[in-house]
Amino acid sequence: MARILIVEDEPDLRMSLEEDIRRQGHETTVAEDGARALELGRKGPWDLILLDVMLPKMDGFDVCAALRKSGVTAPVVMLTARTQEAEKVFGLDSGADDYITKPFGLHELRARIRAQLRRGAGPVDRVRRFGDCVVDFDRATLRRAGQPVDITPQELRLLEVLLDAGGRVVSRDHLIEAAWGPGTAITDRAVDTHIFNLRKKIEPLPSDPCYLLSVRGLGYRFGSGTLTDS
Ligand code: CA
Repeated sequence: MARILIVEDEPDLRMSLEEDIRRQGHETTVAEDGARALELGRKGPWDLILLDVMLPKMDGFDVCAALRKSGVTAPVVMLTARTQEAEKVFGLDSGADDYITKPFGLHELRARIRAQLRRGAGPVDRVRRFGDCVVDFDRATLRRAGQPVDITPQELRLLEVLLDAGGRVVSRDHLIEAAWGPGTAITDRAVDTHIFNLRKKIEPLPSDPCYLLSVRGLGYRFGSGTLTDS
């Protein structure tokens, strides 16, 4: 059983999607517009997000890009109205994994869902994206706007722990243990220095961070990349 978020503003289609996906044994949640999709999408966790393109309040491309920016890695399958090439490319550029063109049959829908869920159930893909950054934890690389950026093993570990915490606060002690191992002589100040350096590598504006957020007296957490988080 997978948790699937269905985003579709057309009531009939939304209901038939929900009904069919439930019949396949999955758990469903629905959203009727882009703003709600973004809110629910960020809450997660989801095994799959089915995302209509033309939506009230915010279109599916913007929703998908914003979710990726927030570190949401669930597979996204876009529902596009026509086979317009530009739409598809934009859909994939916004971080979508697949698309289905309307009108589609339920067999095609099921096949696409199965394919994405299989992919998700495989070895965990240790690639995370946010903003214009792509971090590949298996290859220990960071790319920003397509360009490689040097990153130290400690910086990678700090980033990984904060990303995995999904927005929850992580204490400096926990960060030290995760990045340097238990029983190390590393101080809180050293963590702050590494975070400071990391901000210069990933933040649009390092002096006013939107990803590596300090939480006074507690530690750090990974922000969604929007100013409301700071
Ligand atoms: Ca629509």
